[in-house]
Amino acid sequence: MGRYLGPSCRRCRREGIKLMLKGARCETAKCPIEKKQRNRPPGMHGWRRRRATEYTERLREKQKVKRYYGLLDSQFMRYFQRAKRQRGNTGEKLLELLERRLDNVIYKLNFVPSRKAARQLISHGHIHINGRKVSVPSYTVDVGDKIAVKDSEKSRKKVKEQLESNPNFTTQNWLQLDRQEPKASIVALPEREDVQIPVEEQLIVEFCSR
Ligand code: SF4
Repeated sequence: MGRYLGPSCRRCRREGIKLMLKGARCETAKCPIEKKQRNRPPGMHGWRRRRATEYTERLREKQKVKRYYGLLDSQFMRYFQRAKRQRGNTGEKLLELLERRLDNVIYKLNFVPSRKAARQLISHGHIHINGRKVSVPSYTVDVGDKIAVKDSEKSRKKVKEQLESNPNFTTQNWLQLDRQEPKASIVALPEREDVQIPVEEQLIVEFCSR
């Protein structure tokens, strides 16, 4: 299966929550989730009430997280397998691994307005980690990593404009941001409460362990 090229808002409407896939537009009244008449599942039968089975509940929980982080099914399952091999609660480990993706970190630092834009910034070579260029959006960051924007006028201008567009922005505790450079460092691993969408990770574990 390839990349999803359809309308992003359709995905939020299917899950019934804001997945913040479109950057600045997601904060405005144009977001369909904010509009009463459009906040329903997509498709001509979207308004119909359907009885949720156990299977659908678990599936929707998995799809919600997968879409939030912009992953394909196969990528998501690889994260699940990695989480399963780690010690501790598999659901929490899964969320921790997803939070540590470089594209998610760049988005949370407010270098870009969305995860999609973060993937582009990274794959175009604008991001350096510990002094070396990293062009893989799925790179897993670790404690002590230093993230910097490429030393070029074009790269810095883009990121600075985004940071200046939201002067009151504060990042999460596990990240340390220097707005002036701009650069950042990872000071801790993300906690469960750093995940910003409502999710029942146990349902995902049950779905993926079938
Ligand atoms: Fe569309 Fe963003 Fe609203 Fe989702 S949160 S429905 S992507 S505008």
